[in-house]
Amino acid sequence: MSKKQFKAESKRLLEMMINSIYTHKEVFLRELLSNASDAIDKIYYKALTDDALSFNKDNYFIKLIPDQANRSLKILDTGIGMTKEELENNLGTIAKSGSLAFKKENEIKDGYDIIGQFGVGFYAAFMVADVVTVISKALGSDEAYKWESTGADGYTIEPVEKDSVGTEVILKIKENTEDENYDEYLQEYRLKSIIKKYSDFIRYPIKMDVTSN
Ligand code: ADP
Ligand code: MG
Repeated sequence: MSKKQFKAESKRLLEMMINSIYTHKEVFLRELLSNASDAIDKIYYKALTDDALSFNKDNYFIKLIPDQANRSLKILDTGIGMTKEELENNLGTIAKSGSLAFKKENEIKDGYDIIGQFGVGFYAAFMVADVVTVISKALGSDEAYKWESTGADGYTIEPVEKDSVGTEVILKIKENTEDENYDEYLQEYRLKSIIKKYSDFIRYPIKMDVTSN
């Protein structure tokens, strides 16, 4: 008998993901920081095998930019970025991990640093954000693209201007409700404590823009 493949009802899957797999909403930041770190690691690995690429550790970092007035939190990285197709495949498909694929392609064995594998962490962003915008420019590309989504309704992709290679994830932080405080994800001290709790394993500097607080 031939075996049939499961199909996924992705809207419902995404809703379930967003609402129930994480006990603590704060882990959205761990997930986005680990993706940023993976993206920098990928440039590092590419540079190991490509003489045309050099990796100067000083040029690679992650930066958090909270903006209370606009209720936005930006997580910026100087990593490998995503092409239009990668935005579509990796962020538009639940449980598709570009990082797992990268490890396979490059025969990177366990014990190395790239963390991603399940292809679901990114969606944790929707636990705290109404709108998630990803602006990315891939290494070796002249074009940059903006991916944007309000969650289960799907996403849009359009070309944008971006000078440097890397990715910016911009979260439009939810309004507080009676049960839930979201303002804290715009507060520097709170963000710092989440970083401390979850980001020991990240080998690249995590900077924070404090001017807007
Ligand atoms: P995982 O990290 O387990 O692969 P995620 O849902 O966290 O799953 O992310 C899905 C994929 O999207 C990643 O595997 C990666 O290919 C891509 N991605 C996410 N964030 C970034 C980023 N900041 N820079 C480059 N690629 C990213
Ligand atoms: Mg991840």
